[in-house]
Amino acid sequence: MNAVVNATPIGSAQSGFIHLMKSLNNECAKSFQELIEDKHLYQTVKVDYAGIHKAIRSRVIAGAQAGFDATVRTTNFRVSLVESTDQTRLVMIPINVELYCEGKECCKKQAHRPIWFKEIIQDAQATTSTVLITPKLIVPELFQLIVIAYRCERCHGTPQVLVIRRSGWTFSLDCRSPIEHIEVPKHFPKKESHLYRDAVIASHAGKGLAALFYLRAFIEQWGRRITGMSGRNTGDEIMMTYAKTLPTHLRETMPSLKECYEKLSEPIHDARDDAEVFKEVIDKIDQHFEIRSAHRIPEVEMKEQDTVTENQPKNEAVQQIPNGVKKTSDAVTETEASQEHKNNDSSS
Ligand SMILES: [Zn+2]
Repeated sequence: MNAVVNATPIGSAQSGFIHLMKSLNNECAKSFQELIEDKHLYQTVKVDYAGIHKAIRSRVIAGAQAGFDATVRTTNFRVSLVESTDQTRLVMIPINVELYCEGKECCKKQAHRPIWFKEIIQDAQATTSTVLITPKLIVPELFQLIVIAYRCERCHGTPQVLVIRRSGWTFSLDCRSPIEHIEVPKHFPKKESHLYRDAVIASHAGKGLAALFYLRAFIEQWGRRITGMSGRNTGDEIMMTYAKTLPTHLRETMPSLKECYEKLSEPIHDARDDAEVFKEVIDKIDQHFEIRSAHRIPEVEMKEQDTVTENQPKNEAVQQIPNGVKKTSDAVTETEASQEHKNNDSSS
């Protein structure tokens, strides 16, 4: 049905132009909503101007195409945020969107209403203050900065502000205050969750190397807390010792955090952004903690007098290893083996 309607010939240049602006307005509104609700910092949406223009122009009757082209050539395609009934302008009035609300009563996605918005480039260019705007502000024709403040419809808390940058027909989410909220899975450890959040935020913002580093720091800090290992222990040593804290019958079924640590270290050592490694490892970490949670493995932090227990009671079969961490016989055997290996490496 739509295809038939869309194929209807357009009989005049003016009518063709109004069709074009209507389609662009719809597409801009859709893209804005997608950008605000689904995209992350520095991500973009693109309005397919060329495709829309081509589709509309092909419907304009031959005799009116020259007039249509002339109108398009002289049109200012800036998006205006001022309400207007003029069908020949691009007008984008922000509408309600779903955003996460950090208000105490909410703590989830809620409808947010735009309470203030402005396109600031046009305002800056219109200012009469010579102090503010000398020399004259010159930007590309389709460069715009749009600021929108939203307020939660449920709790009416403090507003959130977004800045959208337009370059040509590409719109990007360049600023978000407060920073994007990242939901941390319930089965993840709470103490280290800020590192997990930063890893995801960095990944969303396209800072892949930082994302890998934060994710590695997340499992390393978790491992350090559980094993009680601090100072100069290497990540490998910590993760190896951590594995010993897991019940033997589950250990083989859980993705290994030591392997995750090693996998993350490769691109970090090369200062390489690797989105595939990030995705693969974050899924494995999620599975690891999910299994911990499903089997109710307690979050026991080892202290000076603690032991790594599998089936042994505390303080049984404890030996002191050089770094001051107490382990079971098993753990010591492996850690000592690794220490010996290191010594051999450094002496060779
Ligand atoms: Zn709220």
